[in-house]
Amino acid sequence: MNTPKKNLRHFAILSLLLLALTPVGARAEEPQPTVIDPGPPGGIPADAVVLFDGKDLSQFRGEKHPEPTWKLVNGIAESTPPGGIFSKEEFADCQVHVEWAEPLPVKGEGQGRGNSGVYLMGRYEIQVLDCYNNKTYPNGQCGAFYGNNAPLVNVCRKPAEWQSYDIVFHPPKRLADGKIKAGSFTVLQNGVLIQDDIPVMIEGTTASPLRGIVEKGPLYLQDHGNPVRFRRVWVRRLNPHAD
Ligand code: MG
Repeated sequence: MNTPKKNLRHFAILSLLLLALTPVGARAEEPQPTVIDPGPPGGIPADAVVLFDGKDLSQFRGEKHPEPTWKLVNGIAESTPPGGIFSKEEFADCQVHVEWAEPLPVKGEGQGRGNSGVYLMGRYEIQVLDCYNNKTYPNGQCGAFYGNNAPLVNVCRKPAEWQSYDIVFHPPKRLADGKIKAGSFTVLQNGVLIQDDIPVMIEGTTASPLRGIVEKGPLYLQDHGNPVRFRRVWVRRLNPHAD
């Protein structure tokens, strides 16, 4: 006959057995995700490579001259001819954060209004353009993977207001058999998804300063003759997708 004491003992033994068999313990022994301090809201993650935070453009070289020709006033870098700027460090799979503002007063129309660009590996442009009340061809508008894919929506702020891109990029890779494995773009503009895992198969977008399927390359900010302003640029290196 089972007594309450016996029942309690059986329950305790059963509980211990279940605890021993549970996979939770095994999971706890798996490698834990690396701890990263994200900083305050809107801040820079501790593992980011800071390319520009308002101090200087020492992390960049000029496109036409060894030193960047861009104006730097009160912590703001302004696209200034001749030429864009290349990061000195090179990146492959990465997460990129860029903050920019379109020129005010407004000048020009279509592709001539506030044109710049964020080029991954100096090859693949996410277009920067003043598309607040400014029509142009969809795959050339602000947030487009230039010449390839229009943004899902137009979330441009007014000229002079600060905007942001958060980009996750995986470059295309050349496989041992010579075939190209597609890379991808995912982009948020002002926190809104505008490019959703778009394949990247090409060697570069139209008029990109660099071309070719390579392992890594510099981040490039375009000078298109319009005074687009930048204030914060950082990059996090990512582990590539497993094949
Ligand atoms: Mg451009």
